[in-house]
Amino acid sequence: MQRSRPLPRIAIVGGGPGGLFTAHELQRLADRPVAMTVLEASGRLGGKVLTPRFESSGTRYEAGAAEFYDYDHFGHDPLKDLVRELGLTVRPMGGSAVVVDDAVVANLDDLRDRLGAEAAASLLAFDATARDRMTPREFYASGEPGDAATAAAHRPFDRSIAGIADDRARRFVERMIHSDLATEPDRTSEEYVMQNYLMNDPAYMRLYGIEGGNERLVGALASRIDAEIRLGCRAESVERAPGGPMIVRWTAGGVESAGKFDAVVIALPHDQLGSVAFLGDRLAPAVAAHRAHHDHPAHYLRITMLFDRPFWRATCGDSFWMLDRFGGCCLYDESLRDPAAERGVLGWLLGGEVARTLAESDDATIVAQALAALPPALARGATPLREARVHRWTGAVSALPGGRSPLPLDRRHCPEPDEHPDLYFVGDYLYDSTLNGVLDSAEYVAAWIAARIADAPTD
Ligand SMILES: Cc1cc2nc3c(=O)[nH]c(=O)nc-3n(C[C@H](O)[C@H](O)[C@H](O)COP(=O)(O)OP(=O)(O)OC[C@H]3O[C@@H](n4cnc5c(N)ncnc54)[C@H](O)[C@@H]3O)c2cc1C
Repeated sequence: MQRSRPLPRIAIVGGGPGGLFTAHELQRLADRPVAMTVLEASGRLGGKVLTPRFESSGTRYEAGAAEFYDYDHFGHDPLKDLVRELGLTVRPMGGSAVVVDDAVVANLDDLRDRLGAEAAASLLAFDATARDRMTPREFYASGEPGDAATAAAHRPFDRSIAGIADDRARRFVERMIHSDLATEPDRTSEEYVMQNYLMNDPAYMRLYGIEGGNERLVGALASRIDAEIRLGCRAESVERAPGGPMIVRWTAGGVESAGKFDAVVIALPHDQLGSVAFLGDRLAPAVAAHRAHHDHPAHYLRITMLFDRPFWRATCGDSFWMLDRFGGCCLYDESLRDPAAERGVLGWLLGGEVARTLAESDDATIVAQALAALPPALARGATPLREARVHRWTGAVSALPGGRSPLPLDRRHCPEPDEHPDLYFVGDYLYDSTLNGVLDSAEYVAAWIAARIADAPTD
């Protein structure tokens, strides 16, 4: 008589995009049902994909991930495919203006007027060099081991921006990319700097948001995943039972529990890996080495304000624009995401050291500084401020995704393959600090686990 095989038990630690992508992919790829448990420490799914509402008006804004990176024009974009499959409607986003010394620079003529002919020529020369270094297709493929650009990831910054001859042109580029980098150029790699410059060109990358808020992705995914989802459940430790399965211990409501699993996926961002103890003579040092390799924290600070009206639109009508304050920050017209929104919502995205240090101040100080940084041309038309929110994301992303010397993909995802081949790590810090990257990571691990399930011996 043939006995039925028990369902493979998979624990996924972290209910952010990484954990949900992994569960969704595994469900799709496994050749049989899988018993999945998602452990999420907070009271909600979604992690840094977060679309709250202002209390006073119910108006939505993005407090975490701002936009989705669109690679559809290269013919292969797993995230866009997933968004489509989930039936979500998208809205293109765009913006090309940079506010320099309180004036809007929207094209090369503006740039010549503001910064002078020499700066414009210097910038054009840098732009040509950047494009020669990386074609749009190479940009799309970058990050994968073996691609042409990965060698540059070994080169610490910087011969690129630092090599821009004209000071004003160099400062312009630094401010333009600062909030995307979320770090200072000298703390990342030449390749990452170049990518963050080039991605401002739609030939390299386009942007979109999800109608109704980016967090709709989370709800749509969760509704399709057949898993036991435990909210308010913090994973505390992971270890191998002697000669047996993996053991995960967690606390929920002050009560400690444990479960046995055939595979465990740690879908946590780098700054939260320390919340779990990895136990065992081999596992503890392997995970410590994994953490050390990827220990390149980058910082964001978001300040979002609700005004009576979008008073900035006459000056800047795009989804976002760059501002040369705070070392370079991004201003989002959050209210443009929702055509029905009557109020105006303006969001500041600060990155790098200034985001880290300012985050230590109280909300009122942060809001006052953000308002004071508005160019006079905009501030003059300001309507009354109704409400302001601050979201601190110190250390929440990676300044050097993949690390100084990117490891082969297997090793990135499975730091201790000898005794713990069934313990996997999923994260954007392994790829490019984005949702596309964490999806690539989740797909890689899900395919690996599905293959192991298919290969498991039958009774
Ligand atoms: C301000 C900001 C702007 C961004 N903008 C963009 C953007 O425009 N485009 C883009 O593609 N990406 C953007 N990102 C990055 C994007 O948000 C991340 O790539 C994505 O959220 C990573 O998903 P994750 O699941 O790995 O981590 P997270 O989203 O951080 O989710 C991790 C989850 O794990 C849970 N957790 C932590 N510890 C434990 C534990 N011990 N046990 C159980 N659960 C635990 C957390 O509560 C959380 O829910 C931005 C990030 C920030 C902060």
